[in-house]
Amino acid sequence: MSRLALPVITPLADGFSRRISYLRVSLTDRCNYRCSYCMPDEGMVFRPRKDLLRFEEIERLVGIFAGLGVRRVRLTGGEPTVRANVVDLVGRVAAVAGVEEVVMTSNGHLFPELAAPLAEAGLKGVNISLDTLDPERFRALTRRGEVERVIVGIDAALAAGLEVKLNAVALRGVNEADVAALCAFSWARGVVPRFIEHMPMSDGQLYDVERQLDAAEIRALVEAHFGADLVPEGEAAAARGPARYWRLVGDGAHRLGIISAMSEHFCDTCNRLRLSAVGALHTCLAYDDAVSLRDLVRAGANDDELRRAIMAAVAGKREGHSFQRDGGGGPSKHMIAIGG
Ligand code: SAM
Ligand code: SF4
Repeated sequence: MSRLALPVITPLADGFSRRISYLRVSLTDRCNYRCSYCMPDEGMVFRPRKDLLRFEEIERLVGIFAGLGVRRVRLTGGEPTVRANVVDLVGRVAAVAGVEEVVMTSNGHLFPELAAPLAEAGLKGVNISLDTLDPERFRALTRRGEVERVIVGIDAALAAGLEVKLNAVALRGVNEADVAALCAFSWARGVVPRFIEHMPMSDGQLYDVERQLDAAEIRALVEAHFGADLVPEGEAAAARGPARYWRLVGDGAHRLGIISAMSEHFCDTCNRLRLSAVGALHTCLAYDDAVSLRDLVRAGANDDELRRAIMAAVAGKREGHSFQRDGGGGPSKHMIAIGG
């Protein structure tokens, strides 16, 4: 038997010994919102439906990734809930052998209706994006969002038994006044808020370093508001994803996460791969390089050929991202096209 034809018996690891266990799958490049940091105001070209991975293709590819050691699958987008029959897809992915957990990242707009059926189909958790509680600011940031609906969606997700986290991109002069309010809102519901540093996707066109709030500034805002220091949690809390977790001193319940790609980056512990809506495998968010697994599937590749393509891509996973504070070093892709 040639070396390439050997059955895969070792878990997927890259050239820096990082073990890959987490796959983010984008279900669509479309969205019912238009967030200003994620997509341009105009000129977006959405992919035709025939270009998107079909459900059976997603199921098959997830099965292959699971055979290579992926245990956690996050469905994202665009907005994953606008993909037709998303409840059906969640059930199919949750049933794939080896997959231990299916979770989602969503803007929450459709969660008032979808939370219960998604939970019933096997979804375990959702990270809901909410940058401000102020209706006008929310509408301005999302260019069409309804904050009241998102709040109902968060409560519906909690009522359906989902593990809920809140995601907020923290921007100076835009929503820094919301950081403490979002903590209080989350903690009142037993939810963990997570603050994301703005990343220079889109060739830096939607990025402005002046608006970039660093992790240390976010922590300072929280400490000043609540009058207590934040202490870091151990590595174990961070092991599942990109956030680093902190808690207010003397109070175990008040935790927050920070995804600090720019100021305190976490590439050395990256355990993730991304599969775009059109089936492109990205080993790092920060680069445009990708391998089209969809093209291989549609050309008739067998499972072994797909495994080899995945392993070759993972072997070339870069050591770290290349984002620069001047807006350079990132991909030309918009966040909406790859899924955050
Ligand atoms: N539509 C869903 C949502 O909004 O949660 C899922 C896709 S969205 C691209 C995933 C996450 O990326 C969201 O939490 C969003 O706030 C974040 N995001 C979008 N553009 C970003 C950027 N330029 N920098 C940092 N985070 C960004
Ligand atoms: Fe849509 Fe999410 Fe991007 Fe906002 S951040 S435009 S909700 S994909």
